[in-house]
Order: sequence, then C-alpha cells, then structure tokens
Amino acid sequence: MIEKLNEIKKLAIEEINSCDSEAMINNAKSKYIGKKSVFSEIMAGMSSLSVDEKREVGKVSNEVRNEITDALNEKLKNIKQDELNKKLLEDKIDITLPSKKLKMGSLHPLTEVRHEIEDLFISMGYDVVDGPEVETDMYCFEMLNLPKDHPARDAQDSFYINDEMLLRTQTSSVQIRSMLANKEKKPFKLICPGKTYRRDDDDATHSHQFSQIEGLVVGENVSLSDLKGTLELFAKKMFGENREIRFRASFFPFTEPSYEVDVSCFNCDKKGCNICKGTGWIEILGCGMVHPNVLENCGFDHTKYQGFAFGVGIERVASLKYGVTNIRDYFTNDYRFLANFDRKEI
Ligand SMILES: [Zn+2]
Repeated sequence: MIEKLNEIKKLAIEEINSCDSEAMINNAKSKYIGKKSVFSEIMAGMSSLSVDEKREVGKVSNEVRNEITDALNEKLKNIKQDELNKKLLEDKIDITLPSKKLKMGSLHPLTEVRHEIEDLFISMGYDVVDGPEVETDMYCFEMLNLPKDHPARDAQDSFYINDEMLLRTQTSSVQIRSMLANKEKKPFKLICPGKTYRRDDDDATHSHQFSQIEGLVVGENVSLSDLKGTLELFAKKMFGENREIRFRASFFPFTEPSYEVDVSCFNCDKKGCNICKGTGWIEILGCGMVHPNVLENCGFDHTKYQGFAFGVGIERVASLKYGVTNIRDYFTNDYRFLANFDRKEI
C-alpha cells in the first residue's frame, strides 16, 4: 500500500510538472487527491489494516497528500505568474511613441478684433463700458435726438418686444446710460463694445445681428481735431502704419457735424483694387461731434462741454483684416472657417 502511495506521488509530481494551465492543474488535483481519485480508493481500503499498519500507512499517506498539494500549489503559482508576465509584456506601452495631437480652440475672430480695439483705447485712458442688449426706446432713440416718427429711425428698423422695449440697434444707448450715470458731469472717455440688432435681410454683407464698438469723449475744449487724431491712430493701429483717413460729410441725428470716415486702402495703397472697389479708400466708420441736444438730454451744459463720438462695426474691421467676404461666416460656427484663425495644436 505504501508502495502504491509512493507510485501515485511519483506519477502525480510528473504530471503536475508537465501542466501549463490552471485547468490542467485542477484536473491533476481531482485525479490524484480528489474524492474519486486513486488516492481516495487506497484510503478507503485502510479499514482492513491492523492498527500498526494503519499508523504507518496513515503517516505516509499524509506525507504523500501534502507533497502533492504543495506541488500543485507551487505549479499553480508559477503558471499564474507566467500568465501575468505574458500579459504585461503584451500590454507594454511604448512611451517613446509621439502622442496624438490635441486641438485647442482659440478666440473667435470677432473677439480677437474686439480685444485689439479695446486694448488700443484702454492704452489711451478709455474705460470699457457694457450695457443691456434689450433697451428702452428712450435710451436707444429718443435721448439720442431721434424722437418717435423721426424719419432717420427707418434706417434702424429693429426688433421691438413691445412699444417701449427693443433689441438695441446701436451701442449708443450705453453712451446715454453712462452720461446719465455721471452725476457730477465730469469729463470722461469711454468705449462700449457689444452686440446690436436691426431688422435686415441677411446676405453676404448684411446681418440682423452684428457688433459695434462706440467711443464717446465728453469734456471741456474737446474738438473735431481730437476726434480726427484719435481715429487716425485707430486706423494706423488696425490697418498699418502708412494708413491715412479722410472725412466725408454725413448725417446722424445724434452728432453735429457728422462724418463718414474712410481709410486709405491697405491692399493697393490708394491705387485702386477690388477691395476698395477701385476708389483707393475704404469706408470704416461713422462719427461726429455730440449733438448739443444729446448733451443737454443727459444733463451736460452744451455751452461748457463738447464731445465726440464714433461707431465702428467689428465685423467690418475683421472682414477687412482677414479678407472675409461673407458676414454670415462669423455666426454659423463652421469649423472649416474658424480653423483659419490661429487654432493651435499641442
Ligand atoms: Zn484698394
């Protein structure tokens, strides 16, 4: 019986050593020391032995079972370690490979241009002021010398919410708010950037939504030459050092006198090209001296204070700078358009 046990041990150890998977180990386990194994059969036959024999066989059988169990455990441990090593080798990350390029967003071209204009005026001591886009008829028109039924209102047909409220047609309403808020009537310089709305048929050059930056300076001894000097600096900063500007007489109800301002063409240097439609000049903004009625409406004594104001379309400046021919491109969020504006990769 002892011989048989040793034989089983020998066979078991050999088979265990040849195992190379967890399933094979489990098979070997049930074959040699499981309930229906040869080992169990021998144990069952022990009842016919004498007490001394039982003791002897019992001792050997324990040793054999322990050795087989140890061999099974040891082999199983090795198999698992091998599997883990193999997996680690397969999953190895090559840290020397270049990473995928991540695309970063960038500022919208209109925001870039707005920032550029803001930076210029901040450097000249202007405040940047914000105001509501839903405005009263009073601030949007009446205080700006555009009483109800004034024919000039036709040029600024807007989206009315009710008889008194509308989406602002111009950022000039912020000028009125700022002048009224300036209770001590001190001299000031400010710009107000923001979105504006006018009822319009959208096409390549018209949009019912656009953005403006308006400037307003009020003080004593403010003159038209101050306005011209300021706008000249603006034109040079936005379109190049060699730019010139010219004033053409115009009409706005809230300024007197009023002007349209052209900048010399940055593309052809006044020779004439398709950008300037052959004229050598490009219209960029409207401006003028603040109308005495507007000053008085806001509590400024027009015999003591003067002011100048100007309004420039941000889309207009951006389109000239970047050669954009369709204003709708700014609002449709097409990635192919936006990707042209300095989208960085890291
Ligand atoms: Zn030109």
